[in-house]
Amino acid sequence: MSDFKKLTPSTRLVHAGRQSRYTQNSVNPVIQRASSLIFNSLQDKKHATVNRAKGALFYGRRGTLTHFSLQEAMCDLEGGAGCALYPCGAAAVTNTILSFVQSGDHLLMSGAAYEPTQDFCNQVLTKFKVETGYYDPLIGGEIAKLVRPNTKVLFLEAPSSLTMEIPNIPAIVTAARAVNPDIVIMIDNTWSGGLLFKALEHGIDISIQAGTKYLVGHSDAMIGTAVANARCWDQLREHSYLMGQMVDADTAYLTARGLRTLGVRLKQHHESSLKIAEWLAQRDEVRSVFHPALPSCPGHEFFKRDFSAASGLFSFELTQKLTQTQLEAFFDHFSLFTMAYSWGGFESLILYNQPEEIARIRPNITRRLSGTLIRVHIGFEDVDDLIADLSAAFERIK
Ligand SMILES: *Cc1c(COP(=O)(O)O)cnc(C)c1O
Repeated sequence: MSDFKKLTPSTRLVHAGRQSRYTQNSVNPVIQRASSLIFNSLQDKKHATVNRAKGALFYGRRGTLTHFSLQEAMCDLEGGAGCALYPCGAAAVTNTILSFVQSGDHLLMSGAAYEPTQDFCNQVLTKFKVETGYYDPLIGGEIAKLVRPNTKVLFLEAPSSLTMEIPNIPAIVTAARAVNPDIVIMIDNTWSGGLLFKALEHGIDISIQAGTKYLVGHSDAMIGTAVANARCWDQLREHSYLMGQMVDADTAYLTARGLRTLGVRLKQHHESSLKIAEWLAQRDEVRSVFHPALPSCPGHEFFKRDFSAASGLFSFELTQKLTQTQLEAFFDHFSLFTMAYSWGGFESLILYNQPEEIARIRPNITRRLSGTLIRVHIGFEDVDDLIADLSAAFERIK
């Protein structure tokens, strides 16, 4: 299948992981629900044992045909040597880190990373004497000053959760490797779906996704993925296996099904979210819009250089901090936007954070907001309908 790699990513998303061993004459892979996988002879058992990490059916925790199909498709999407599967995105983040650190090590983490990722460093890694140093996502090549001889892992997230900064990833990667060539560089690449930013092509070792978001795409299942290059794959796979990380076959199936439409979904998320971001930028109530495709987003120039498009999640800061009464007037009466954690599905979502909450969960970042920060995920409703819904909300706080 050497010609397969020459096809465009959207074509490959449709076809990857669909070899007949997995599909058995249907279009989609079979859902093989199994703990025990039966060996027909001692010779078969021996073969399965030797090849248990190379696609042989061995034991449910090592995966079934359904998992292998998804893993193959994910490796094609992100250009990796292997893909570990986890029950959710948080498990993917924590187990990927744990696979590469030991007592006495130092880890560099974005100070604007997803809050539970930072909490894991502060509350769990500390128990094992792994020290975390936080950096500003806009640090660029200055990261070199923070890399120590014992810095084992550098963890990136792009864009940052909530505040949406886009780091200068090539500058960070090059500078960190110049100091410590063996450093393992990981990224939480959830926002790009693994399609809009090619992490491994940018010198990153492991691309992690909360597949819960865009891979599944329908807000009805949870999964985490970590695609590793050849240097890191064996260690990631074996450590994650020992920590009992896997996902059920039904969820693996739903994730593979989501991949088939990932390309067209992301195109629509890009188009609709950008239209709404541009509309918001014209509103008097809005101070700045943090949509990576707009110049008002910190790191926009790196987005233009390194990403192929945007997805559906962005945030904006109001000129004022809303009072409790205004918050209720604004948020309690939407007809289309709903309030919920998570994102990446077909539906539009909205949530807010007050500036002091952002400061509390970003203790290592100096940039401060003064207005209420609103985060939206733009789904597949018609843009004009969504704009009418937002317009009405602004009227309610006049
Ligand atoms: C949601 C999310 C996670 C966690 O994923 P779960 O599947 O909810 O555990 C991790 N990173 C980012 C950026 C997320 O948005």
